Amino acid sequence: MSASASATVRVMSAEEIAARSGGDVRRLIFPQRGSVYAERAMRLRQLAAGHAMGDYLVFISMLAQAQQAALDELARGSGWAVPDAQAIDRASRDGRPPLAATDWPRDERWHREVLQRIVGELQRSVGPGPVADMLDRLAAADEVHLERQADALLNGVMAGLDLASAPVVAAALQVMWTHLACQLGEAPLGLLDDAGVCPCCGSRPVASITRSSGESTGQRFLHCSLCNVEWYLERVRCSHCGKTERVAYQSLDRAGEGEADSGERAAKAAVQVETCDDCGHYLKIVHTDREPFVEPVADDLASLTLDLLVSETGLQRHGVNLMLLFGAPESTAAPPEPA
Ligand SMILES: [Zn+2]
Ligand SMILES: [Zn+2]
Repeated sequence: MSASASATVRVMSAEEIAARSGGDVRRLIFPQRGSVYAERAMRLRQLAAGHAMGDYLVFISMLAQAQQAALDELARGSGWAVPDAQAIDRASRDGRPPLAATDWPRDERWHREVLQRIVGELQRSVGPGPVADMLDRLAAADEVHLERQADALLNGVMAGLDLASAPVVAAALQVMWTHLACQLGEAPLGLLDDAGVCPCCGSRPVASITRSSGESTGQRFLHCSLCNVEWYLERVRCSHCGKTERVAYQSLDRAGEGEADSGERAAKAAVQVETCDDCGHYLKIVHTDREPFVEPVADDLASLTLDLLVSETGLQRHGVNLMLLFGAPESTAAPPEPA
């Protein structure tokens, strides 16, 4: 998991990628229930080939496959309790996310059914070793332990968190919140004051993704690290502090590929970091028009080298990837609203 010695960071000016959105802006994109995790699994397999973190990416790909199976299973069952129209409206008027990660009451089926199903699926495909041991521990874990792990993950508290099993516990919580978000359908969620957190569950994004549809090209959405909802944020704006003045872009350029023209190369990179010198934070941005199969969680994991290089300059991640927790124990969710 080390940074490639041949990698360098290229800088690109904000003007080069100025927003060019036109037409109506879709404000929210709800997850595609039938394919959200299958697409992630496919992208992870693609990125794993020849990658320094290949084994890890393959494991997370298997985990994503198990998440898709668990979500498919939930779709066949009865719905789970979700906020009704009135509750959504009330949350919207109060500027709160309706399915707040930090205080929405969790149905115990999140671990009894979803987590155990995911663990069972992985146990069938993983050979003997530390991962199999971790899965056995999870299969035997009691409710108190699992709920504590969930609280720690959803509140961004690293103390007491079992880092080895965290991705698998987080995977079950992601499936639960994605199931709930899908049940909300296209409910009109309110705007939050903080555009840097998910309007559905209040979690931080994993990364941004640019999408084109119809007449509007290259619109940027932030992709939720928990519920997979995407929300609109204009281009060239910091997702952490909302300022625009000192936003810049960097990308990886691998030496040996014979491309010396850094500006042009960086401008075409499918994965970039959007940095803000005002608040010292950064978030990755992946571009579907440059690489149609980019996927925020997968491409964020596979570009860890970028994090290492950018963090050397003192910048902090705004994004959260529950499949790989590292760095400062900042909250994965917005602080709770004062009562
Ligand atoms: Zn969310
Ligand atoms: Zn900022």
